Amino acid sequence: MAHLKLKDRDLGSFQGVLFDKDGTLSHSEPRLIELADARINEALRRFRLRSASSTVLRELEDLLARTYGRCREGIIPDGTLAVASRHHNLLSTATVFCQMNLSWPQSLLLAEEVFDHVDACQQSLHPGGHPIDLLPDAARLLRELAGAGILCAVISNDTTAGIEAFLNQHQLNDCISGLWSADHLPAKPDPGAVRGLCGQLNLAVDHCALIGDADTDLTMARQAGIGLTLGYVAGWHREPALTAHELLISHWCELTATTHEMSET
Ligand SMILES: [Mg+2]
Repeated sequence: MAHLKLKDRDLGSFQGVLFDKDGTLSHSEPRLIELADARINEALRRFRLRSASSTVLRELEDLLARTYGRCREGIIPDGTLAVASRHHNLLSTATVFCQMNLSWPQSLLLAEEVFDHVDACQQSLHPGGHPIDLLPDAARLLRELAGAGILCAVISNDTTAGIEAFLNQHQLNDCISGLWSADHLPAKPDPGAVRGLCGQLNLAVDHCALIGDADTDLTMARQAGIGLTLGYVAGWHREPALTAHELLISHWCELTATTHEMSET
């Protein structure tokens, strides 16, 4: 069975590696900045139509920015937009609208309208899917792992269509054997998501590693009984402050696969 190696350290043999997508394989921050700003601007536009005062609009803008983790420099890596699913972001947005004195039914409807409007605009801007860069050396790693016989899979809170568009953009379909998205049940961060994906690929959970950029990923993997949790910290302008990892990766060039038995040192 192939081994994973981090810098000079043999991590042991693994059947599979589960990768988070946003901020782990993909440089998602520019797209998420655009998404946060578009949702905030659309919410402001709709509150203006309701004749909201400038004070209310400022409060709304501030609350939504903090809710999404949109800071001056970019996106906070452990904020709602970076980590949570669209559905959870929608509920967070509706909760902000409640704080602006809308009822829950009004808030939920308005949040859905804002999200759907922004999605439609983005779809018309990027009909083939929003182009998103891979993080440096990620493609080399995925091809190397697949070539060494380690199955690679993506476990993400993006939709199945979003994950597939990303893999297609970078011609990575041949080295990704499976995926688990927000469309699957249970979704991240339920440990059942890890067990479900491993089961789909006929992998033993304790013979797999999970690599992610958020404590929610790493804690989920530990609760599922994963063999190894690795934190990846180079996907955002600000390094994620992780606590649930066993080891950290600062650049994909640090991780390699080897098919020969390594001596224990
Ligand atoms: Mg992530």
